[in-house]
Amino acid sequence: RAFNFCAGPAALPDEVLLQAQAELLDWQQRGISVMEISHRHAAFETMAAEAEQDLRDLLQVPDDYAVLFMQGGATAQFSLIPMNLLGKEASPLVACVNTGIWSNKATAEAARYAKTHIVADAQGFQNTTIPPMTEWDIPAQASYLQYTPNETIGGLEFHFVPEVESIPLVADMSSTLLSRPIDVSKFALIYAGAQKNIGPAGITLVIVRKDLLDRVMPSTPSVFNYQRIADNGSMLNTPPTFAWYLSGLVFKWLKRQGGLTAMAEINERKATKLYRFIDESDFYHNPIDPDCRSWMNVPFTLKDDTLDARFLQEAEANKLMNLKGHRSVGGMRASIYNAVPEQAVDALITFMKDFEKRCG
Ligand code: PLP
Repeated sequence: RAFNFCAGPAALPDEVLLQAQAELLDWQQRGISVMEISHRHAAFETMAAEAEQDLRDLLQVPDDYAVLFMQGGATAQFSLIPMNLLGKEASPLVACVNTGIWSNKATAEAARYAKTHIVADAQGFQNTTIPPMTEWDIPAQASYLQYTPNETIGGLEFHFVPEVESIPLVADMSSTLLSRPIDVSKFALIYAGAQKNIGPAGITLVIVRKDLLDRVMPSTPSVFNYQRIADNGSMLNTPPTFAWYLSGLVFKWLKRQGGLTAMAEINERKATKLYRFIDESDFYHNPIDPDCRSWMNVPFTLKDDTLDARFLQEAEANKLMNLKGHRSVGGMRASIYNAVPEQAVDALITFMKDFEKRCG
């Protein structure tokens, strides 16, 4: 297999794919695929409940939080969060921290339902650092504060949880969740598209404090209503059964690796060695403040961008796939999620060194 540095849909662990392959045609000796069984079948319900429990174990989700398996991606949540949390507000106000492309998109969607107040904007620093919290201007009457702990495109990451005790904290953890332990109790709501560290595209996780479930706007469609989804065990309608099953296999794989503390150690080590190599080179460059560098997404540029195409072509020839940066920022990006082994990062560094020697 090639090493896959894609930002999303991203790599899945080989072990998980092989297990899925082995039981693809014959799940639990039933003679049919997990994709072909009813989501109302007791066997599927057991598997689904086990997946939720494994996720709860991994993240130590407190009992007063609901875990929802939804559809529509994180982008749908940009709208579903205001629809579900602002129903009781006469003049809703959402506080937003803008640190890059994804948080800006989330802010733009929230603005369709509420007044938005930009508490801090990293745009003034070209999204290369997080404005210090001492300068954040948080309105006390805000219904919640939303932010993006890891900007998948820019590679800017919070290595702290903003302390905003008075206001519910909402976090887009699409490229953060399951990369390390987190303290769920600090958040009112966490959401994440699956296709980085969770499973294949098609599932969106929402972890929400149960006392917030009574704030839905009456016009919200049932399939987007958190309370209704919670009441129906995330099976109000047909869920993406195969994605749910595969995510469940990933949760078990994570447990076998030693859980999120073990993953955090590996992820930090992978990121640190790649940044160290980039910093020590005059040929490669990462623009992000070292205190805010992402463990998951490492963007970098070459000294001479006319070499970009050759770099990518030679990388692929060496089975180092999908290193092209996002179309909006150019350059390169190595996404090094849980399923990307440390050997992949070692192989990338070896290739980058060699490329620099030949072309630098
Ligand atoms: N938020 C973040 C931080 C992301 O990285 C992405 C996708 O990469 C999204 C939102 C959008 O996710 P989706 O494509 O699942 O809607």
